[in-house]
Amino acid sequence: MENINFANARVRIAPSPTGFVHVGNLRTILYNYLFAKHYKGKFLIRIEDTDQTRLVHGALENLLQVLKWAGIEGDEGPYLTTDNKVKEKGDYGPYIQSKRLSIYNEQLVALLDKGKVYPCFCSKKRLDDLREEQAKNKQAPKYDNFCRNLSKAEAQAMIDSGASYVIRFKMPENRNVVFEDLIRGEIVVNTKDMDDYVLIKSDGFPTYHFANIVDDHSMKITHVLRGDEWLATTPKHVLLYEAFGWQPPKFAHLPTLVNKQKKKLSKRDGDVSVKDFIEAGYLPEAFLNFIALLGWNAGTEQEVYTLNEMIQQFTLDNVHKSCAVFDIDKLDWINGTYIRKLSADDFYEKCLPYLTKANLITPAKDKIAINSTNEKVKPQYIKNILSLEQTRIKKLSEISEAIKFFFVPNFDYIADRLIWKKSDRSQTLENLRDLEKILKKLKKTEFTSPKVKELIMEHISQNAKDTGSVLWPMRFALSGQDRSPDPFEIAGALGKDQSLARITFAIQKLS
Ligand code: GLU
Repeated sequence: MENINFANARVRIAPSPTGFVHVGNLRTILYNYLFAKHYKGKFLIRIEDTDQTRLVHGALENLLQVLKWAGIEGDEGPYLTTDNKVKEKGDYGPYIQSKRLSIYNEQLVALLDKGKVYPCFCSKKRLDDLREEQAKNKQAPKYDNFCRNLSKAEAQAMIDSGASYVIRFKMPENRNVVFEDLIRGEIVVNTKDMDDYVLIKSDGFPTYHFANIVDDHSMKITHVLRGDEWLATTPKHVLLYEAFGWQPPKFAHLPTLVNKQKKKLSKRDGDVSVKDFIEAGYLPEAFLNFIALLGWNAGTEQEVYTLNEMIQQFTLDNVHKSCAVFDIDKLDWINGTYIRKLSADDFYEKCLPYLTKANLITPAKDKIAINSTNEKVKPQYIKNILSLEQTRIKKLSEISEAIKFFFVPNFDYIADRLIWKKSDRSQTLENLRDLEKILKKLKKTEFTSPKVKELIMEHISQNAKDTGSVLWPMRFALSGQDRSPDPFEIAGALGKDQSLARITFAIQKLS
């Protein structure tokens, strides 16, 4: 496959703005982008908005925002300016199909002249009846070519009388259409089940098929990488290229995304809209890494890739034919590895919006207000707390829940939960009282987690205490949670006053 000459590759994504970008769209976007960058070609964005009935307001902006978030920039096509306006760049524009109607009209005339297409005046009612009849007879729906043999004069008379019409393609009969798919190999399909499909609708807008082919040709697209739901329509496209007398691009149909039950990924699988993943706090680098692996790997054990590594290693040879399983656990794992790689400052910056949204803090210039106490702290205080969770959380949206206990001074709990499973009430009480004494002795400035650890571990060993019976109540008193970072780290981050207040509160609860 790699002996094909990919120099000057021009690829495109051609989304229809009919909904929000979902993970399948992003996979197609990413593969096109990686392919273009790998071969030092061009990556185009073209908006296929000719189905005016299905347009969703804001979908184009959503697409461009997702691209921006992902750090994927088109070489040509629409983009968002810094003040969120949609602009276009490139020499083959416009890149939004609704602005290209005159181009389609010109090309339509060429096909009419060649006798490859014809106007069809069949009413909706006639077509519905036909479909119904075919369904009754257990036949696949197919246009019966009723208008195909109207003479030019008959057709013109109808047009002149103001009749509404569409333009249909004259499907060659019983022809084997053969084309090479770069992932699936040679595909051969006979035209016997294909009907004279519509190229121009009665509203004068082209259908997807017509506009897509005209644009891929006029934008000099060399490779079409798209989801395999388009494989079935590709023979129609190949015939249309032939009718025009144009060389078709190379095709590569990407494997279907399925859920763990091997069913096609759908909205029912929860978050499939990229917007939801962004909000859940997946990092763009991690998300792209995960998406890249849905149908591709470099043939090695490597699972964590930077974008540059993906660009270097991506080829269609390593794109699979079989379905790609969307495994959210793997996404979480990859995201966790990227979160751990962030610097403390980056992690802090990325967490701030989540903490603010959860109403835990209110960031101001160089001080942060803790909402529950109105106390003002330095950013470093928050950074210390965050550092305890950076190794634990899998996505940023988990951060507020994970560190909430730091900001709630008087959380309540059932006292028995302070007792370690191998301990009892009186031992726990005694251990907490010892802790209180030890911690009280430390000066505020000495109150760091290593120092707290040193003193308490010394206490445990000198007094031959059971570790769990001391550390469990300490950790529970400080966090109110069964699972949390270790008690020394929590104490260090909380500081002397808060740590002692929580231990004293625990003693009161148990006494
Ligand atoms: N407009 C089609 C879509 O929404 C484009 C398919 C193609 O890439 O040809 O996915």
